[in-house]
Amino acid sequence: MSRQYETVIGLEVHIELATRTKIFCGCSTAFGGAPNSHTCPVCTGMPGSLPVLNRRVVEHAVAVGLATNCRITQYCKFDRKNYFYPDNPQNYQISQLYLPICRDGWIEIGTAAGRRVVGIHEIHMEEDAGKLIHDEWEDCTLVDFNRSGVPLIEVVSEPDMRSAEEVIAFLEKLRLIVQYLGASDCKLQEGSMRADVNLSVREMGSGTFGTRTEMKNLNSFKAVTRAIEGERRRQIELLEEGRPVIQETRRWDDNKEYSYAMRSKEDARDYRYFPDPDLPPVVIDDAWIEAIRARQPELHEAKLARYQAEFGLPAYDAGILTSDKRLADLFEATTALCGRPKRVSNWLMVETMRLLREHERGADQLDFSPENLAKLIGLQERGVVNGTVAKRIFEIIFTEDIDPEAYVREHGLETVGDEGAIRRAVEAVMGANPQSVADYHGGKKKAMGFLVGQAMRAMGGRADPGAVNRIVRQMLEGDASGDLG
Ligand SMILES: [Zn+2]
Repeated sequence: MSRQYETVIGLEVHIELATRTKIFCGCSTAFGGAPNSHTCPVCTGMPGSLPVLNRRVVEHAVAVGLATNCRITQYCKFDRKNYFYPDNPQNYQISQLYLPICRDGWIEIGTAAGRRVVGIHEIHMEEDAGKLIHDEWEDCTLVDFNRSGVPLIEVVSEPDMRSAEEVIAFLEKLRLIVQYLGASDCKLQEGSMRADVNLSVREMGSGTFGTRTEMKNLNSFKAVTRAIEGERRRQIELLEEGRPVIQETRRWDDNKEYSYAMRSKEDARDYRYFPDPDLPPVVIDDAWIEAIRARQPELHEAKLARYQAEFGLPAYDAGILTSDKRLADLFEATTALCGRPKRVSNWLMVETMRLLREHERGADQLDFSPENLAKLIGLQERGVVNGTVAKRIFEIIFTEDIDPEAYVREHGLETVGDEGAIRRAVEAVMGANPQSVADYHGGKKKAMGFLVGQAMRAMGGRADPGAVNRIVRQMLEGDASGDLG
């Protein structure tokens, strides 16, 4: 009988903070500028330059710590992590080892097996490195220091997770918390959230941990899942063959679905950490913590409960609307404008989701304004446009954020409620489709639906569908003789 194994997983999640300027200088943190245009003597490691801590970095880190049930270290320090690498101009990274800003937290995750608590060992503040560009040049590597000095927090979990499902649940929960706080946009594709996975396996029931490896280069939730499955298999195969797992850092290749050894795993000793002599300790007094606590926005779980209680939305709808900060913001702003939460929810849950899938976009990329959706809902409620026309207009709002009131005026899309006009259109349709009229009188009642459809089409979809239905029926019943004049 083959042995049963348990997977033990801990995460190190790097999150770029949404500050305007870098952690130790005034350079811009904007993504995608011309190479080395967001740089100065500090973030390019020039001798004699001195770092000055960005206050907002501390506030974001404390906010994330409070939202993840951490203890805040009220006297914390920065340390130098020494290593040579060409994207690291100082030959050290300013980070925190001895007194990280947050410790001993936890977050609760929901899994198929129920709710679980995952511990957070610590959160520390540090600076990001630059970027090396190998691809476009054959014989040389280029370096771009725009990212050098962009503020990061590193969230280090306890090794409390046992499956890829739990890891994804943890990452999604953490991302929601951080996005709701406005501390980061947490885009995996752009690298503003990056997860390293520490994984080991052990025989089921064992009380000691196996040797772990660390996997880097995971830039999507799918890659995280595949890397966990792949590395678990690799380690179990080694153990089954009686060979040791080596403690090392591995790079996951998502195309080949295999991880490759990068370097033997180093520990803190190898970096010769020491307190950074250029930066004074950071003292975070009670008043500062309380001020940050008082500013904390409503977080995901509270919002989820409120949407059900205050707006009477089903749990499923509330879950989707709160699954992304941008979507929740749109829902609330539009509802505040038009006072119709159910209708707003329907537009977001049905048409918006359909269009997002069609355009292969995420909810965080929604960019139409609540004003225009609220106006569209108003137009439909007042009967100015019917449902079909409203959907057509919404597609344009979705892509171009147009003002629906102006658009309806310019394109003459108001619903035609004028009986005379509808009657004339129905008459024309019945005249052109005598077979359908005969079918109806012969007992095929479905023929009426066809005639209604044709009449709606003849009026460019703008007629009031209720009126068209009524008039078609009246005229069919009234013209039982088949005399259409
Ligand atoms: Zn700079």
